Amino acid sequence: MRQRIVVLGSTGSIGKQTLDVAASLGLTVRAITGNRNVDLLEQQARQFLPALVAVADEAAVVQLANRLKDTGIRVLGGPDGLVEAASMPEVDTVVTAVVGMVGLRPTLAAIEAGRRIALANKETLVCAGELVMKAAKRHGAEIIPVDSEHSAIFQSLLGQGKQSEVKRLLLTASGGPFFGATRETLQTVTKAQALQHPNWSMGAKITVDSATMMNKGLELIEAMHLFQVPPEKISIVVHRESIVHSMVEYADGSVIAQLGVPDMRLPIQYALTYPARLPSPVQQLNFADGLSMTFTKPDFDTFGCLRLACEAAGQEGTACAVLNAANEVAVACFLNEACSFLDVEKIVQKTMEEIPSQPADTLEAILKADDLARKTACRIAAEESCRT
Ligand code: NDP
Ligand code: MG
Repeated sequence: MRQRIVVLGSTGSIGKQTLDVAASLGLTVRAITGNRNVDLLEQQARQFLPALVAVADEAAVVQLANRLKDTGIRVLGGPDGLVEAASMPEVDTVVTAVVGMVGLRPTLAAIEAGRRIALANKETLVCAGELVMKAAKRHGAEIIPVDSEHSAIFQSLLGQGKQSEVKRLLLTASGGPFFGATRETLQTVTKAQALQHPNWSMGAKITVDSATMMNKGLELIEAMHLFQVPPEKISIVVHRESIVHSMVEYADGSVIAQLGVPDMRLPIQYALTYPARLPSPVQQLNFADGLSMTFTKPDFDTFGCLRLACEAAGQEGTACAVLNAANEVAVACFLNEACSFLDVEKIVQKTMEEIPSQPADTLEAILKADDLARKTACRIAAEESCRT
């Protein structure tokens, strides 16, 4: 039988690439979701003929339902629409490609329905990693990473021995567009500059996260949960070329890595076909033409967001949920040109200082911490002291 998938966030960078992969593999797309991009959702719905299309923005629902009237496709709106898409029957894999912690409830719903999760939405694991991993275990739902670094680690762990034989995970980082910059030069960074990533073409939020290097911090937290490894056993290595997507170092000193061109269709396809490997349209690495690779350490002093994320990773409880919420607010401010590049770090730091970590053992506790952190971060962002 053909594999049946749901794509949450089908109109985004990962979502569109997932649909490209689905088309090339001939998968059945059972549901797609977006926030408000009605034009693209209509186009995707007509191409893939899913049973359900959900759009989060209530104002867009009527418009989309009207446009799809002739197709018989069910159209739902609001956050419950995403949850319904995530848990619909006759589905094998749910690809979580929405941006932000808004992906948490639908991801939990897909897990509770026992689906395989192809996880791109890292914010979900950052804010509720323990809860999500426990739920996955309880419901027998596999979580296969889509994030390229985590896909690489997942692949480098396959067929190996015991967890105790893993010495550390080596998470590679491109260093982003401001690699080598000083704090002084970061003061004048514009939105347009921050949105220019050297190696990857991605959605706006993750592109800014890559520029501040918060992305690598979020990925460290994501890796902790996915691979059940404490933060002190994860090292970040700057690798400008983005060819080695990450590595695992074992007790005997051997390092196993996964390499490939920087193209997200590769980890997306693998998450959908695992454990099988199928041909893909992705370009191959050309070693014979003189492939050069460099590795160096990250600069925690210049990139304060990376430092803050590593600090949160070492704390128990809701600290990571607070970090994530403050960062979502701060990045939105930066993208609206309401704060400077370095204010992103300042907003996150001040929010974390104000909100002590609480136990994170229930969904309610996490949602409460997230809500408080958003309100606090908004207030801090509006304060004069934060404008540099
Ligand atoms: P995009 O911004 O390109 O896409 C985000 C998707 O989420 C869109 O479909 C968008 O809908 C939808 N969305 C946004 N806000 C809401 C909301 N409030 N409710 C419901 N849906 C919403 O993001 P990316 O594809 O770049 O990233 C998606 C996730 O994957 C992120 O967590 C990111 O960290 C992760 N990731 C991305 C990589 C990449 O290469 N892009 C690499 C590794 C991980 P609409 O289009 O209608 O606004
Ligand atoms: Mg990544």
